Amino acid sequence: MRTFYSDHQSRHAPSVELQNGALVPHAESAERVDAIKRVLPRLEAAKDFGLDPILAVHDADYVDFLRRAYTDWASAGRPGDAFPYVFPIRGRRPLNLKRIDAELGRYAYDCGTLVAPGTWDAVYWSAQTALTGLEAVMTSGEATFAFCRPPGHHAGRDYMGGYSYLNAAAIAAEQALRSGAETVAVLDVDYHHGNGTQDIFYGRNDVLTISLHADPSMDYPFYWGHVDETGQDAGDGYNLNLPMARGTEWSAYKAQLAAAIERLQAFAPDVLIVPFGADTYIKDPISFFAIETADYTSMARMIADLGLPTLICMEGGYAVDDLGANVAAFLNGFSA
Ligand SMILES: [Zn+2]
Repeated sequence: MRTFYSDHQSRHAPSVELQNGALVPHAESAERVDAIKRVLPRLEAAKDFGLDPILAVHDADYVDFLRRAYTDWASAGRPGDAFPYVFPIRGRRPLNLKRIDAELGRYAYDCGTLVAPGTWDAVYWSAQTALTGLEAVMTSGEATFAFCRPPGHHAGRDYMGGYSYLNAAAIAAEQALRSGAETVAVLDVDYHHGNGTQDIFYGRNDVLTISLHADPSMDYPFYWGHVDETGQDAGDGYNLNLPMARGTEWSAYKAQLAAAIERLQAFAPDVLIVPFGADTYIKDPISFFAIETADYTSMARMIADLGLPTLICMEGGYAVDDLGANVAAFLNGFSA
């Protein structure tokens, strides 16, 4: 399988995050990169497709904010990474304030998504990595792995959250349509609901979005990912959420994945995009499913059996010691 990455993606190194009431070392660490690189000996460098495909998904003012957020923060004399800490509560009138503290709150929905010095460079190249992978899929029809980092599936059209800034998988989905695909499906198998992707395509029927994830009444991101979120307008019936309880093992997960596969077969997309998170792993430090390393191969095989041109985009996975093995197990399911 061809695998793509850009070294620019290592430049994003947020220091701390606010989790469960305490400032702790950031879980989305650059050590994740080394863990995954070790099992990908033939990584190819991402190509540069420019800003245009990014702006086909994200609002221009949000992209402009991301590009300058760290500099504006540092210019205001603040130490450390740009840290969102005040948010406009629902019902407030929209204000286009240019104070960096206000802008951080306007574009972020949590306190875990800091803008560090290398963040823009990393997220730009994460999107390019997905686009390069997509180009390989569109030309060869073969399953391809885009080693995107940081994650992207929590980022919406004009917001960041959940360690995500630009939604690489959504950018690739939109680009697939621009490159001749008539329909695309996104099958999100990260532990957390892919809320950004859901929001981006919620009103559309040319992109089917499916997410298997932890029940959001118990787990992040709480405000999205419930079963009654099925899409709206033309997109009604084109979003499928399959939440599961904490402690879910492969046997129960497999049944939900089978439901997702059935929906995918009925939709029969031209291209499939799979945001893959290894944070469903039993030893993940911030997540609570019980998937074992060998299960990832079974999971991938079920998806591979669809026989669709498939782009896999890396999302979460924070058990650094076993992260490489889990990614390798998943990718093996496509080559077996
Ligand atoms: Zn996750």
